[in-house]
Amino acid sequence: MSEAAWLTDDHRAFGATVRRFFAEDYEPNRARWSEERRVPHAFWEKAGAFGIIGASVPVTYGGSGLPRTFDLVTYMEQGRIGDTGWGIMVHGIVQHYLLAFATEEQKRAWLPKLASGEWVGAIAMTEPGTGSDLQSVRTTAVRDGNGYVLNGNKTFISNAANADFIIVVAKTDPSAGARGISLMALETAGADGFRRGRHLAKIGMDRQDTMELSFQDVRIPRMNLIGEEEGRGFYQLMGQLPWERLTIAVSALAASRCALDTTLDYVKNRKTFGQRLMDYQNTRFKLAEAKAEIEIFASFVDRLVGELEDGTLTPERAAMAKFWGSEMQGRIVDNCLQMHGGYGYMNEYRIAELYRDARVQRIYGGTNEIMRELVARSLDRD
Ligand SMILES: Cc1cc2nc3c(=O)[nH]c(=O)nc-3n(C[C@H](O)[C@H](O)[C@H](O)COP(=O)(O)OP(=O)(O)OC[C@H]3O[C@@H](n4cnc5c(N)ncnc54)[C@H](O)[C@@H]3O)c2cc1C
Repeated sequence: MSEAAWLTDDHRAFGATVRRFFAEDYEPNRARWSEERRVPHAFWEKAGAFGIIGASVPVTYGGSGLPRTFDLVTYMEQGRIGDTGWGIMVHGIVQHYLLAFATEEQKRAWLPKLASGEWVGAIAMTEPGTGSDLQSVRTTAVRDGNGYVLNGNKTFISNAANADFIIVVAKTDPSAGARGISLMALETAGADGFRRGRHLAKIGMDRQDTMELSFQDVRIPRMNLIGEEEGRGFYQLMGQLPWERLTIAVSALAASRCALDTTLDYVKNRKTFGQRLMDYQNTRFKLAEAKAEIEIFASFVDRLVGELEDGTLTPERAAMAKFWGSEMQGRIVDNCLQMHGGYGYMNEYRIAELYRDARVQRIYGGTNEIMRELVARSLDRD
């Protein structure tokens, strides 16, 4: 499989370290953490000590000061082992919100803890009544003395069981629509009125702790308004979503490669009617199509990574990669599962987990219908 065009020797060396880390410290615990439905907090700290989760955080704020592409290398290595359970992408998104929008004081206070893994990050946008239509969030952050009082409910929040630091999307001015939205930082330790609700049972992403959250008169210091200016939340969200969507595209690519690799291994060994499955034309053509789709999509992703680096990545191009890549992933894992026959439906086979995990890629990070809408709007503008 050809490698990403933007990889340098430094990326390769970093990737080798991450691969070893996953092999030695993640894989042996995979089954247990699936049963526990979370990756323990201590593992985050270990990953922090290895320089994995703070890779793209500047040295001043406790990270390694590497370009964001090093985070992409980590996500590709995670995809190589067919994992989506450990919520490092969400954690990375939180770090990048702070790098882009937080004040110097906020960065110094929070980023070192997020880079070391002492803190696990989460972002809480979705509510029971509102997912795609973010402008309609009902959680409020009302000014009170030298701080805010937070009230509301969130759902489907990744990393919620472990989270020490949550970016909460709230209305500071409910009458102002999108311009009334702000991002509030909640430090969960000792936060009165903050509750973690149900640990949600999902069809996939077994090791990901996805939960409901509630806030009842939770006091937040004034300093925890990200960027210190009210009403900037929607703009801040829109600014970071292309990065989030690119990371989903990268993970879709990596998971598709993992599906192809594991299936090649299977069809070259399994025999029916005296022949290897690999010898049937149907198998050969389906796998050839998967390979072609992966290679073509990889070229597009390479282009977008270049655009990210030179600051020209647009929301609509990131949206295209998110919806097309996650749908490609869905097609490939479905075909690959079929080639495993009944074994593909058994959880002990990697393809089964890849199949269950793939479905959500079309839903979170903005549904694929919303992605199409973003692309369509850009066509209407042109
Ligand atoms: C495993 C998992 C992890 C998640 N992690 C997080 C997290 O960490 N933080 C967080 O904030 N959220 C998280 N989410 C929530 C996720 O982002 C939302 O589920 C998603 O944005 C869709 O919102 P919804 O579920 O309310 O669906 P809805 O918005 O109710 O949409 C339902 C359907 O209607 C379609 N639809 C809606 N509006 C339109 C429209 N204008 N045009 C056409 N079709 C439309 C949608 O595409 C979808 O098919 C997670 C979800 C899951 C499943």
